[in-house]
Amino acid sequence: MSGARKVHIKSFGCQMNVYDSHRMADTLAGEGYAETATPGDADLIILNTCHIREKAADKVYSELGRVNRLKQAAAESGRRVVVAVAGCVAQAEGAEIIRRAPTVDLVVGPQNYQHLPELLGRIGRGVAVIDTEFPVEDKFDSLRAPSPQATRARGISAFVTVQEGCDKFCTFCVVPYTRGAELSRPVAKVVAEVERLAAAGVREVTLIGQNVNAYHGEGPGGAPWRLGQLLHSVARVPGIARLRYTTSHPGDMEDSLIAAHRDLPALMPHLHLPVQSGSDRILAAMNRRHTRAHYLDVIARLRRVRPDMAFSSDFIVGFPTETEADFRATLTLIEEVGLAGAYSFKYSARPGTPAADSAEPVPEDVKHERLLRLQRVIERQQTDFNASFLGRSFEVLFERTGRHPGQIVGRSPYLQTVQVQKAQGSGADSAVAIGDVAAVTITELSANSLFGALASEAPRRHHALLAEPGG
Ligand code: SF4
Repeated sequence: MSGARKVHIKSFGCQMNVYDSHRMADTLAGEGYAETATPGDADLIILNTCHIREKAADKVYSELGRVNRLKQAAAESGRRVVVAVAGCVAQAEGAEIIRRAPTVDLVVGPQNYQHLPELLGRIGRGVAVIDTEFPVEDKFDSLRAPSPQATRARGISAFVTVQEGCDKFCTFCVVPYTRGAELSRPVAKVVAEVERLAAAGVREVTLIGQNVNAYHGEGPGGAPWRLGQLLHSVARVPGIARLRYTTSHPGDMEDSLIAAHRDLPALMPHLHLPVQSGSDRILAAMNRRHTRAHYLDVIARLRRVRPDMAFSSDFIVGFPTETEADFRATLTLIEEVGLAGAYSFKYSARPGTPAADSAEPVPEDVKHERLLRLQRVIERQQTDFNASFLGRSFEVLFERTGRHPGQIVGRSPYLQTVQVQKAQGSGADSAVAIGDVAAVTITELSANSLFGALASEAPRRHHALLAEPGG
């Protein structure tokens, strides 16, 4: 039988993994692999794993059970399927994965995806390959760039990794161990990647990194540039209408970054800024390297330069030794900031992290009760935030068609999903297309979306406009 080999990549966790999965697919496209969304059709199945959430490794092993059944079924019809585990669980577990799941042929850590073609070549029958080193070469130089077609298929909004790894060592977090030390890409390479994306029709770029605002990549003169400076360069790329960045550490919100929120209209007024706790005692136990006062000061400085700035955050409740008073400090912090949304979790120990050895865990029922209380406050704030836009207008970048005929879906500057029903006929409502930025007046709210109608002015469009999906 002829035809291209097929690869199925299943991505877990954060945007970094989504970006990495795309770059793996691009690199494998150069080896003759076409991507398939159907694992049963694939000759190569890659699980790109995440180690952040509880029982991450257990979830990977149960997924591998399903993959093994596909592999066995393929073998019965004479087809060989290669199974690879990538991402942070691969880095953390290494050879243990192959010991517990012999169906796995390849274990590859996040710093080694550039080696994929060579690693796949080394897989012989019955010989598993493991690559979890932290090599000195720049993996981004070796990973293949996506074709314009692949970029278009991924939509008008793209992630670009500018920084990897973390030197902060929060006591609950595995990232410094699985992703290694902080490493920033040079400014010229980031800008070149954004130019390629823009030429293929991308209109919004989110610069990503585990600790993105610790960015210190080589600038044009050889000296390191901070994220604020990088954002200025990226904002100059023609066709890029919107910029975002994530995930940030409150301790790294330096002046040039705050000034960029004042000076760059393309930089959207929404920031995900994890705080984890509102108690200084718990922040110190977490080794967060910032205080409650510092966090509130960063929020105030950003609001001074950009008054409509909206914030989301991350919270861990029930960190070892957390008292009711500590927890209440988190609730008062949330009230002081006023959030557009948040991710919140009960603390659970990650093996190998310092906090995992604590002798004073918070009982499970207390953690559960605190999480519910915290989530009630956040839900109320999110609802209030969304409701504050009823009857108001803002610009929406349209990303995709909706589920209903004539519906088009986009994002507000504050990252809310906005749905618009296009009118029949020849008015502005019918003219708007994916990739356009257009003013929308909000007319209705639901739990997860805003609904609106297009204002009368013509949408802003760019020459490299994408065709609507399926068109
Ligand atoms: S700053 Fe973020 S990525 Fe780094 S150790 Fe802390 S929680 Fe983990």
